[in-house]
Amino acid sequence: MGKRERQESVTGIKGIGDKTAKLFEKCGVRTIDDLLTYYPRGYDHYKTPVRACDVRPGEINAVKLTIIGRVTLRRVRNLSIIAFEAADQTGKLRMAYFNSPYLMSSLKSGTTHIFRGMVQKKGSFLEMDQPKIYKDVEYAALLGTLQPRYPLVKGLSNNTVSKAVSAAFKSAGEFEEFVPADILGRLSLVSFSQAVYNIHFPKNEKSLEDARRRLAYNEFLLFVLQLRLLKANQEDIPNAYPMIETSDTTRFLEKLPYKLTGAQERAWEDIKADITGKSVMNRLIQGDVGSGKTVLAMLALLMTASNGYQGALMAPTEVLAAQHYESFMGLIKKYNIDNLKPVLLTGSLSAKDKKEAQRQIKEGEVNCIIGTNALIQAKVEYKNLALVVTDEQHRFGVRQRESLAGKGMNTHVLAMSATPIPRTLAIILYGDLHISIVDELPMGRLPIKNCVVGTDYRPKAYKFIADQVAMGHQAYVICPMVEEGELDGVENVTDYSEKLRENLPPSVRVEMLHGKMKPDQKDRIMDAFARKDIDVLVSTTVIEVGINVPNATVMMIENSERFGLSQLHQLRGRVGRGDAQSYCIFLNTSESDEAKERLDTMNKTNDGFKIAEEDLKQRGPGDLFGVRQSGELNFRVGDIYHDSDLVKESAMDADRILNEDPELSSIQYSVLRNVLTTKSANLVDFATL
Ligand code: ADP
Ligand code: MG
Repeated sequence: MGKRERQESVTGIKGIGDKTAKLFEKCGVRTIDDLLTYYPRGYDHYKTPVRACDVRPGEINAVKLTIIGRVTLRRVRNLSIIAFEAADQTGKLRMAYFNSPYLMSSLKSGTTHIFRGMVQKKGSFLEMDQPKIYKDVEYAALLGTLQPRYPLVKGLSNNTVSKAVSAAFKSAGEFEEFVPADILGRLSLVSFSQAVYNIHFPKNEKSLEDARRRLAYNEFLLFVLQLRLLKANQEDIPNAYPMIETSDTTRFLEKLPYKLTGAQERAWEDIKADITGKSVMNRLIQGDVGSGKTVLAMLALLMTASNGYQGALMAPTEVLAAQHYESFMGLIKKYNIDNLKPVLLTGSLSAKDKKEAQRQIKEGEVNCIIGTNALIQAKVEYKNLALVVTDEQHRFGVRQRESLAGKGMNTHVLAMSATPIPRTLAIILYGDLHISIVDELPMGRLPIKNCVVGTDYRPKAYKFIADQVAMGHQAYVICPMVEEGELDGVENVTDYSEKLRENLPPSVRVEMLHGKMKPDQKDRIMDAFARKDIDVLVSTTVIEVGINVPNATVMMIENSERFGLSQLHQLRGRVGRGDAQSYCIFLNTSESDEAKERLDTMNKTNDGFKIAEEDLKQRGPGDLFGVRQSGELNFRVGDIYHDSDLVKESAMDADRILNEDPELSSIQYSVLRNVLTTKSANLVDFATL
């Protein structure tokens, strides 16, 4: 099978009918190519069995034990339970099987088996529920292998996906190599084809890590190349929209109820120097959550407007765009900022409203366009766009620049990000971007109080939330899932909001929010929360990016062990945005020591840079899968912290390649050029949930 056939539907694979294809579609898998690049989110590792005294609660363990004492079969209502104890010289475990009476014949007292399953601590006992049973030879065949675990939807089993992927490979042929051989040799990278195969079916940890590194390198190289090509088009572009400082911004600053922090002040000076200077602005503002980046955006947009130009503010979500719009409108009214005329333009506007907004933009009736990527669609015509601000999305900024450059507009670009990237990496990744770091929180902020707790703390947490609501505050509760899914013990927003309604006083208004809702529905809920018509918002991580409701003082995160530390930090950043004391409750539902240790980091510091560092230290290569990091710079496989060496190498390689062949026009780069042009849309795609 070649490249063309891989674009065909997955129904071409034996065993995939329309029904399964529909399920795959829910996972974003339509073509065979999609399937081959539907990477596992983790692996089941068949390790050497451990001794009973070495099992680790909260994890999957394999252990070779002899059944001691009696094997009992009980009935509880319509459930049948097999229970027994099994031991080696070092200790014993309790075992339980449900509705599997046929196992009685093989589970005889005195027989020895390898048991593999999740170990739980129950009181002073260790227990394994439903462990798989293996004979020595069976286990030996699996030993050392890693079996893929795929992201699933209800109705789609891991086995189905794994089989389909395997079948697809049988006929898939080679993936065309686009990285020059000398680079592969220098960095000891495996071939593209081998990497794609091994990311699904690694023979061992080494082959998994080799595959991961190769795919990470691909992502970085293409990303950096794309940036560099863009930069080549933008180098030293004269400032086509020179501005002067007007009284509008100084007056606005005088009216604000607070003084800018030193760091905000410096960033504002940087911005002013750029837009009044000789070349076009390309600036990244990097500041921790809550450091006050929005006001910088507003100042830049106000200055642009009072110079007679238009500016745009782009947010990664409709919710965030709507919130920026509301807060701008609020400030404009309060402080009579007549010269700034915002309009909201998002994908969920009705066709009529969209048309009207577009007309106002084209005719220059508005000068501050706030919205999502609907803004950059070719249809929108600006009268005189001079500045684009992108909020909370590095890569968004890249795409934006590309799109604008494509239209021949060399506007000023200001990218704002809360992802703490060490300056050295940022310079490699963003080359020509100038960087201002806002590393100071507004005065008078009380540090957020944190606690990491187990599930038995829930009643207390609910009481605490109820008390805070009674004091007039609001709370967020985050769950990893939208609705009941295939994952046991993982909370979902739908059931959880019901549960909260039952557990909180009836006067507490609980609502839910998640990414599967329609945009206007999401907006309505966010608005209601901002207006204090909702007390407790149960949400997925859609809430993660930039939402600002200073009255919210509690953030409770269910299954917090399932999130990356940087992401937890972003979530926590939704509280502690006002004067009141705020709290973050990390609910740890895992019993593993590692999870506890990781979460304790959140307890120790509120500093985003420190957390990013710690996050990196604590993760091993296998952990890089499945832990979703913050929404920005989220490569599918690569991790800019963990793979920082590859980021550096890929940047060097990109520069060398372009030095040699600036247009990638020679034969040896033809595949690379092809990949860049066809994949570019994916590359700068941003995370959605
Ligand atoms: P982020 O950097 O996370 O985007 P925001 O811009 O949303 O943060 O600011 C968070 C909150 O801090 C907002 O309510 C904003 O009004 C407030 N704020 C911003 N700058 C200051 C300041 N210098 N002093 C006091 N409060 C500020
Ligand atoms: Mg923000």
